[in-house]
Amino acid sequence: MTAACDVLVVGAGLAGLQCARELQAAGREVQVWEASDDVGGRIRTDRVDGFLVDRGFQVLNPAYPAVRRWVDVEALALQSFGAGLRVRRQDSLAVLAHPVREPGLILQTLRSGLLHPRAVAGLLRWAAPAFAGHRRHRGSDVPLRQALDRAGCAGELRRAVDQFLAGVLLEDEGSTSNDFALQLVRVFATGVPGLPRDGMQALPRQLADTLTTPVRTSTRVESINPDGDSFLVTAADSRLRASHVVLAADPVNAARLAGGDVPAMKGVLTHWFAADTAPSAVDMLHVDARAHPGGPLVNAAVISNAAPSYAPAGRHLIQTSALLGPGRPDPTDDDVRRHAADLFSASTAGWDLVARHEVRQALPLQPPPLRSGQPMGGLSGLVICGDHRETASINGALVSGHRAALAILGRPR
Ligand SMILES: Cc1cc2nc3c(=O)[nH]c(=O)nc-3n(C[C@H](O)[C@H](O)[C@H](O)COP(=O)(O)OP(=O)(O)OC[C@H]3O[C@@H](n4cnc5c(N)ncnc54)[C@H](O)[C@@H]3O)c2cc1C
Repeated sequence: MTAACDVLVVGAGLAGLQCARELQAAGREVQVWEASDDVGGRIRTDRVDGFLVDRGFQVLNPAYPAVRRWVDVEALALQSFGAGLRVRRQDSLAVLAHPVREPGLILQTLRSGLLHPRAVAGLLRWAAPAFAGHRRHRGSDVPLRQALDRAGCAGELRRAVDQFLAGVLLEDEGSTSNDFALQLVRVFATGVPGLPRDGMQALPRQLADTLTTPVRTSTRVESINPDGDSFLVTAADSRLRASHVVLAADPVNAARLAGGDVPAMKGVLTHWFAADTAPSAVDMLHVDARAHPGGPLVNAAVISNAAPSYAPAGRHLIQTSALLGPGRPDPTDDDVRRHAADLFSASTAGWDLVARHEVRQALPLQPPPLRSGQPMGGLSGLVICGDHRETASINGALVSGHRAALAILGRPR
């Protein structure tokens, strides 16, 4: 006999979990089926030899509007990074710090050698619309690189900004929507990112813990077929009839199940290293602003300086991130170590590799024009959500789950 339910949510990433908890709060009967062995989707954390390692370096910014609205950030015990960047220059390491959040570093920032008045003016011209408080005109969005060029942001400061944004957007061609980049600028200016005490996966776990029907893990949906006024859903060993289905899978699997074009995705390679001595006492991201960077890394950080819970007492955890993608050779472990040594100006000889995460499908492309708030409807009444329907971020995934819940609540039972 085929079991039945009101709403089936396929996928227990942030979008699916947010959707499920809102539906449940509205009194609907919801089941969540998840292909993987745990909740979280692209936000997973492993414990390895006493270290916490996230599957690909990422951070939580508490200033995201959706995080403020739906996440109990206090319960996550966020451990913040320093508000700024440690910048590799030709012959030195400099600090560029947020003047308000890191007042003690103002002098160092002014003396960094990176703040040439024309470059600073260009950067401010570029970033100003992020704080203008009005919506930008439709049709005015351009690729990020074009917007930065047009604003006149150049030189070493521009290269530091480019490297920082490449690590956030996971592309270094400046092809992402400038409107999306400006949304992120606003969030970075108003909140300092950090890592939860129990790792990034504590975020989706917090959402999952509020569900009264636990997520059914290790259950990969194989097909979703309209059948009369409901759906027949099959997994390897289960069948379910659901009045409504929310497809909250990642962009690639969503396209496979719903029958659309499989989208191109951006990838990242994260190495996690353990060391007895921290290569730097700085708790900020390190970026390379030289005209010819010393290797493939878009950023690196001593994670345990910012988030002590990520390493056992007396040890240190370091992450390095490099982009992956077509037409770009995959960096070798030696390339990574060489560039890390150069970025920190320290030897990596005593570092042990804790984990290496190759995340080829990390983020969907987000070219201009920014198309947040995309229609959620799929074939025959399927509701589709996920970061690919909103913006490629934690905020976008949560908002999209919320919109999917509203779409279901607006339909007849
Ligand atoms: C390395 C990395 C770094 C990032 N850094 C940041 C950052 O610093 N800041 C930020 O805001 N965002 C960042 N992101 C993006 C952010 O993590 C994602 O936008 C967000 O987690 C996407 O959530 P989602 O629910 O839309 O999709 P997903 O997390 O992909 O969830 C989809 C779920 O559906 C499941 N699924 C797929 N197919 C099926 C099936 N057939 N049956 C059942 N289940 C299925 C998957 O297993 C998965 O659990 C990063 C992402 C990565 C990978």
